[in-house]
Amino acid sequence: MDPGTLHGNKMEFSGGKRRKLRLADDQRNACYPHSLQFYLQPPSGNVSLTEFETLAIDRVKLLKTVENLGVSYMKGTEQYQSKLEAELRKLKFSYRESLEDEYEPRRKDHISHFILRLAYCQSEDLRRWFIQQEMDLLRFRFSILPKDKIQSFLKDSHLQFEAISDEEKALREQDIVASSPSLGGAPSGLESVYKIPFAEALDLFRGRKVYLENGFAYVPHKDIVAIVLNEFRTKLSKALALTARSLPAVQSDERLQPLLNHLSHSYTGQDYSTQGNAGKISLDQIDSLSTKCFPPCMRQLHKALRENHHLRHGGRMQYGLFLKGIGLTLEQALQFWKQEFIRGKMDPDKFDKGYSYNIRHSYGKEGKRTDYTPYSCMKIILTNTPGQGDYHGCPFRHSDPELLRQKLQAYKIPPAGISQILDLVKGTHYQVACQKFFEMTHNVDDCGFSLSHPNQFFFESQRILSGGKDIKKDSVQPETPQPKPSVQRSKDPSSTLDSLSSALDMDLEELEELLQ
Ligand code: SF4
Repeated sequence: MDPGTLHGNKMEFSGGKRRKLRLADDQRNACYPHSLQFYLQPPSGNVSLTEFETLAIDRVKLLKTVENLGVSYMKGTEQYQSKLEAELRKLKFSYRESLEDEYEPRRKDHISHFILRLAYCQSEDLRRWFIQQEMDLLRFRFSILPKDKIQSFLKDSHLQFEAISDEEKALREQDIVASSPSLGGAPSGLESVYKIPFAEALDLFRGRKVYLENGFAYVPHKDIVAIVLNEFRTKLSKALALTARSLPAVQSDERLQPLLNHLSHSYTGQDYSTQGNAGKISLDQIDSLSTKCFPPCMRQLHKALRENHHLRHGGRMQYGLFLKGIGLTLEQALQFWKQEFIRGKMDPDKFDKGYSYNIRHSYGKEGKRTDYTPYSCMKIILTNTPGQGDYHGCPFRHSDPELLRQKLQAYKIPPAGISQILDLVKGTHYQVACQKFFEMTHNVDDCGFSLSHPNQFFFESQRILSGGKDIKKDSVQPETPQPKPSVQRSKDPSSTLDSLSSALDMDLEELEELLQ
């Protein structure tokens, strides 16, 4: 795509203002002819770092909603469709073909998809998650694409699926209906039928769900979405593998690397830093809070600490920052950890020398003086996998299913609830499984939030247990030193431009402004 097409308003046209605008509109429409895309070409326009970040975060939010809706509702049902449409509208992403002036939402859709490819190509887990949510999003958009636009969308997506003529259809109608279970045996009102190379309909063929003739599959409209999604999955999967190979170049950029890492581990809500909560709990409340209000990851750490009077580094970091986020002051934290470690027969001097520095450090009182924020679910789920003797991590992600079953039994989850949670875990929907756990332990049908942070679990629990009265105080602190989805500023703007040239070009002026 010519960069100019992304900036029609900057292009020079003759013939007066009105003509300029019309041409600019034509250019804009030509960029994105449809409300959905196959993302065949990366964007090449200018994007400022700030916009880069905003676009990326909005898409993470969108994909998380797609995941949540996918496990809460049956895909394709009215509720699912209307909730997803509402989210797309709220986040200003494209969704309906017929809407006027869809250029900005479509551009946002295009660029944000490619940014997330950079963030989500980094591991098998991330790739799988990203592909699944993108496929569900495409399925939804395809399902509301008007019938008369399908052929041109397929053509623009390089999918050579031609709808056959009415005569050809009439000739084969009986065979097509008999071989396509999705039609339910009803010959009347057979909609479009697409003739596609047999190799591209292998899934339907394997399931004996399509009529074949002379190397072609005759796929009814109802089934074409499966073929489109299959193609999309194959292309996206290859593209992610290729992107992963070019990652070192992007990662060498010191501003983009933290942003991309954060995005893939990200949650997009508040960071639950301690401000406003400090001193709100006392040490003797922790035992009872741990069973009533802590998410399973923290409950397991607390139990292990009480039993073993020790936690290894990963556990101390995960649990210590969580406690800090719910309101433990530095003095309380030092007292809490020291008391427990001394119970384990640790010499107080050894504690002071070996451990109190780390606690002070995590409160921003030592070293770089970074005021560390509690870990989000994605960070816990995706980084620092626990080993033998570790208690950190997320039980939904890191516990063996049988062990998880036992833990859930011990937490008094009823058998039907355990099966439901284990099914979600099997489908790798760990946070949704935790949300179910929350609903069951708090006796609510719909918790009404999308879980992304252990401290969010805690505060929501407190809110419910205190009768709906929100007891958090000024807990929204979007600005924190680390880790947060902000681009770190560099003294050398040119390095970003070099490393990103294959993905997205920065607007140099805006970049320099940002770096001043
Ligand atoms: S989903 Fe999040 S809050 Fe729940 S157990 Fe896992 S890491 Fe903790």
